[in-house]
Amino acid sequence: MSNYKETQAIRTQTERTQFFEHSTPMYVTSSFVFEDAEDMRASFAEEKERNLYSRFSNPNTTEFVEKIVQMEGAESGYAFATGMSAVFSTFAALLNSGDHIVSSRSVFGSTHSLFTKFLPKWNITTSYFKINEPEKIESLITEKTKILYAETPTNPAVDIIDLELLGQIAKKHNLLLVIDNCFATPYLQNPIKFGADLVIHSATKLIDGQGRVLGGVTVGKKELIREIYLFSRNTGPAMSPFNAWVLSKSLETLAVRVEKHCENALKVAQFLESHAKVNVVKYPFLPSHPQYEIAKKQMYLGGNIVAFEVKGGIESGRSFLNNIKMCSLSANLGDTRTIVTHPASTTHSKLTVEDRLEVGITDGLVRCSIGLENVEDIINDLKQALEI
Ligand SMILES: *Cc1c(COP(=O)(O)O)cnc(C)c1O
Repeated sequence: MSNYKETQAIRTQTERTQFFEHSTPMYVTSSFVFEDAEDMRASFAEEKERNLYSRFSNPNTTEFVEKIVQMEGAESGYAFATGMSAVFSTFAALLNSGDHIVSSRSVFGSTHSLFTKFLPKWNITTSYFKINEPEKIESLITEKTKILYAETPTNPAVDIIDLELLGQIAKKHNLLLVIDNCFATPYLQNPIKFGADLVIHSATKLIDGQGRVLGGVTVGKKELIREIYLFSRNTGPAMSPFNAWVLSKSLETLAVRVEKHCENALKVAQFLESHAKVNVVKYPFLPSHPQYEIAKKQMYLGGNIVAFEVKGGIESGRSFLNNIKMCSLSANLGDTRTIVTHPASTTHSKLTVEDRLEVGITDGLVRCSIGLENVEDIINDLKQALEI
């Protein structure tokens, strides 16, 4: 196969059927048939690599996973119904009661709930490091620590964590390094190169890219994926063949979409940086970003999320949102349509002000997921909303 991600995403294809179709069809079937009793026995004994039942594998999910495996430089993978089922199943398959996780404080909201509310039910605990204190990570590691976990860029403050540093720490302490690579996509960043053992994606975001289907995937080392596969094959979080078909098609255009998302996002970030009513703009590829050098080292482009602070606190943030005309107010991200959110009054409103500040959420912080509309229209909408 090619070393180029565009080609991998387009030319990795399930075998053609007798109809010689050019584009992979949908295999909407729950199960598969066997030639005879011996074929059935050998298949269940895993003496043959083949599809048995769509909870285990299906031609569409296999094709989707294989594309992500190649683009991430991984050995193997498994596809899930959602990003969260990928996150949960990865932890559940690999951890035992008594184990400990060291994680970045800035993780996706539901992942945070998993660490604080659900994993403790099975006596799995988590300690957190702050983005700006990577030197404290090692002091959190105990004999029980099994996994080092992070997302970068972070949500919603768009901070960057040094993957090379995490890779070194994980290696030194013999931990599994697991990275949620959702914001960067496999096109912009490959954590395995920096020492990650497993990479997780919510395919719901830029991988689908059109706000249609939910999906998730974990890729990485073969023996770890085998554990995750056995857990998932028995507990049932599998991706549906329909969603796999949609997402595999989406991957064919990932590279061109993401290039354009990033081009638009950089222009929007530059516009906001020059605006009098904006305090701080966070975009990984703006030289003013605190971790600009690290972003340049580990990312190919800066991604499509721009965070900025409207002057005047929580009320200004809310009124900015009320003034928006074209862009959508929605909780999703990575869509063709530009989406704006105000984390302090919505997704993170239940946190105390101190807890919000710890993950970089100031009262006026606005998160924009920059879409594929003409960038002039995006900038004009943000501009008029700032100026009212
Ligand atoms: C959205 C998201 C998830 C969860 O994905 P779902 O597909 O919504 O379950 C996990 N991690 C990150 C960083 C996300 O943005």
